[in-house]
Amino acid sequence: MTAVSHQPGTQTRSASFDSLDPVTGNVIATFPVNSAAEVAAIVSKAKEAADFWAGLGEPGRRARLSAWRATLVRRTDELARLIHAENGKPVDDAVLEVTIAIAHLDWATRNARSLLGKRRVLPGVLAANHSATLEYLPFGVVGVIGPWNYPVHTPMGSISYALAAGNAVVFKPSEFTSAVGRWLVESFAGIVAEQPVLSLVTGFGETGAALCVSGVDKLAFTGSPATGRKVMAACAQNLTPCVIECGGKDALIVAADADIERAAEQAVWGSMFNAGQTCAGVERVYVEAPVYEAFLSAVTARATSLQAGAGGSADYGAITMPGQLDVIAAHIEDALQRGGKALVGGRHSVRAPFVDPVVLVDVPEDSPALTDETFGPTVVIAKVADLDEAITKANASRYGLGASVFSRRNGQRIADRLDAGMVSINSVLTYASIPGLPWGGTGDSGFGRIHGPDGLREFARSRSVSRQRFEIPLRLTTFDRSDKAMGRLRKLARARWGHSKASSARVTGAAVPR
Ligand code: NAD
Repeated sequence: MTAVSHQPGTQTRSASFDSLDPVTGNVIATFPVNSAAEVAAIVSKAKEAADFWAGLGEPGRRARLSAWRATLVRRTDELARLIHAENGKPVDDAVLEVTIAIAHLDWATRNARSLLGKRRVLPGVLAANHSATLEYLPFGVVGVIGPWNYPVHTPMGSISYALAAGNAVVFKPSEFTSAVGRWLVESFAGIVAEQPVLSLVTGFGETGAALCVSGVDKLAFTGSPATGRKVMAACAQNLTPCVIECGGKDALIVAADADIERAAEQAVWGSMFNAGQTCAGVERVYVEAPVYEAFLSAVTARATSLQAGAGGSADYGAITMPGQLDVIAAHIEDALQRGGKALVGGRHSVRAPFVDPVVLVDVPEDSPALTDETFGPTVVIAKVADLDEAITKANASRYGLGASVFSRRNGQRIADRLDAGMVSINSVLTYASIPGLPWGGTGDSGFGRIHGPDGLREFARSRSVSRQRFEIPLRLTTFDRSDKAMGRLRKLARARWGHSKASSARVTGAAVPR
């Protein structure tokens, strides 16, 4: 990705940039660097498109989104080849990525009505003469800013759910994967041609920053915590609500009763597929002492046999963003200088644009290889005395995105004690492919949720309506209320809430589907 006559923030006429194949350096496509004025104009058109999209109603949107889903299925191989060319991952990994994104699009489409549609809510004793209804309305225009490591699955986690909730979307893909972003937008326009319900802006950070203050009604950001902070600050200017999905330093715990072969196989996959460029990838492994040596042998055997490359037989591909190679090399170097040992690979494993597998042990807990996101095909393995130590160390991170646990008997108990937004037991990252499960983290991993019911509601605002059905003598919200009415209120409160027994859901007015 190279910039051509790029002058950040100052353009009246667009500069442009090239998106490059990370392996060959060939130009995949050239894109405008959209200026703030251009972004504002695109958002303004999207506001009209939002009215059109909302006006289709849920059945109309469901029909269009289902047609888009079918198109994505039909054209998966074409899209996967483009992902391979622009991001560097193997075609099969790209097919898997697209397929998971399709499953989410389908889920969001099918569940929008039941989760967001109008429903009655029990009014409770204070308003027993009223009916109460709740519905979730679209915000209007949602801005989506995406990263490059999963150029389809990650932004689609916001785009699919925002569209299904009735919003128009303006999408700024990463400057490293803008061709994939444009492909998605054009494929949607093939289904919804009347209005730019899903539109594209391209460029660098300045274009993303312009989108944050462009008048969008909500902003969904996925990327690094440093950029997430800038996005939040920009959104604060207009009190634009935002969802921030950032990186991780995810831990995997191997208990003494785990299936060691399976744990090793998944640890290697979870840390090295997609060249380790996975926000919820495995970066740290804590292994109970009795199975430590067996686990190391199994991981070493598997990691040694992996091949990085661009050909069809490669297990994983290139590092997409050239600057990341320096981070990976620095983490390995620091770990080795501070007494760490490389069981697989080492300094020489970084050979741009590829990084061969690296397995590190005996790395101090405060070294960047264990505290910061490495985002490469590296993993640090540490021995722990027991599960308490494993859990304490897993939780001792400023990130809190995902985690995984391998244990035949205690998986759920360990999972319950992990400070992470998502946990897989006896597998890695499986929650990503379960559309009904929300996705998101805590701490430096961000806040808000995509996917699942929370993901749909993230892109909708509630509207509550109460309607008086009949008049009752006990009128409290009036200057005309009587002492008798207040006496009855006190009696009612004592009878209803004066005891310590917990109230049931019906009394508190939980939502009931209509
Ligand atoms: P990045 O933060 O560099 O960029 C992300 C996006 O933000 C890009 O489109 C970029 O152009 C844009 N951007 C840059 N500066 C901006 C600004 N000031 N205002 C608005 N937008 C701006 O991240 P990246 O290198 O593209 O992606 C890698 C990061 O994303 C990793 O930390 C990874 O863990 C994280 N990630 C998180 C998830 C998740 O779901 N939590 C998923 C995938 C990736």
